[in-house]
Amino acid sequence: MIFEKVDCLIIGSGPAGYTAAIYAARAGLKPVLYQGPQPGGQLTITTDVENYPGYPDGVGGPEMMMDFEKQARRFDADIRYGLATSVDFSSYPHKVIIDEQQGIEASSVIISTGASAKWLGLKAEQRLNGKGVSACAVCDGFFFRGQDVVVVGAGDTAAEEASYLSKLCRKVYLLVRRDEMRASKIMQKRVLTAHNIEVLWNTETVDLVGEEELEGVKVINNKTGQETVLHVTGFFVAIGHKPNTDIFRDYLDLDEAGYIKTIKGSARTNIEGVFACGDAQDNVYRQAITAAGTGCMAALDAERFLAEKAVYEEETEV
Ligand code: NDP
Repeated sequence: MIFEKVDCLIIGSGPAGYTAAIYAARAGLKPVLYQGPQPGGQLTITTDVENYPGYPDGVGGPEMMMDFEKQARRFDADIRYGLATSVDFSSYPHKVIIDEQQGIEASSVIISTGASAKWLGLKAEQRLNGKGVSACAVCDGFFFRGQDVVVVGAGDTAAEEASYLSKLCRKVYLLVRRDEMRASKIMQKRVLTAHNIEVLWNTETVDLVGEEELEGVKVINNKTGQETVLHVTGFFVAIGHKPNTDIFRDYLDLDEAGYIKTIKGSARTNIEGVFACGDAQDNVYRQAITAAGTGCMAALDAERFLAEKAVYEEETEV
């Protein structure tokens, strides 16, 4: 395999990746950014972003990510379609394989691969995926106009999805496995005051009903043991996310949940020249603004690393 030499390789295209690209490009690092399976990242499947500073009237998630990309392109960041499928960080320069066939040899690597939606793990969930089962109300809600649907989860994502769906659907059941929600108070209030959202407390999913298409959801009240079938055509899973870090597992230090560990106050990882930013390394804040902030940190750290390396190489050559 022939390896293309790159000074700064950025893997992932959410707020972290694009911010890293903007900073790296302006610093003259000629970054190459691979967008991954979902160009623009998680914000492309969200509705309005109201808390990103600089947009006083809010902005659509997809629109905001197009702005990020446009800004990175303005400084000639080389933005490409493609997915990093494996890495070899055992020797320097670092090697990254794109789409299982194209090799990159990178002097610095910035990981901004984000996180993906989690599933409950039911067999029927995968069988009926796209046939009533979804992890994205904004992407698929439109298909359930005027129908009854279920949302699973009790965090901000679930609250947001339930509120979004309540504007399209006849009825939304929100399945909460405990007797309280984890979502912020303002989001909870939105859910609890919506006329067509019914919160089913202490309720878990047993199975999905339907062979070719979703026809219902079998649920159990974990306090009373009572089982019921909810006759719905849509089932939206909103129970959190998993960091997209599997390909780095053999080289980078990860926490128990799979988030990349960075050295405090920096974007540096345990491997020299490899930096991590955004949701791939943030189990706590997980916001677009914090992702963008750490993307900036990663680019500045990469720039410093490359500059120090160049000085070292110059000195050892003399
Ligand atoms: P969270 O981890 O906050 O919440 C996940 C929820 O899913 C929890 O309530 C959890 O229940 C529930 N859950 C997990 N596994 C299961 C299961 N097997 N069955 C049933 N329920 C389950 O994830 P979110 O995606 O909601 O939010 C992630 C972060 O993003 C948060 O920091 C959030 O504030 C932020 N966010 C902010 C938004 C905004 O500001 N507009 C919008 C969306 C997210 P339990 O509580 O019992 O553990």
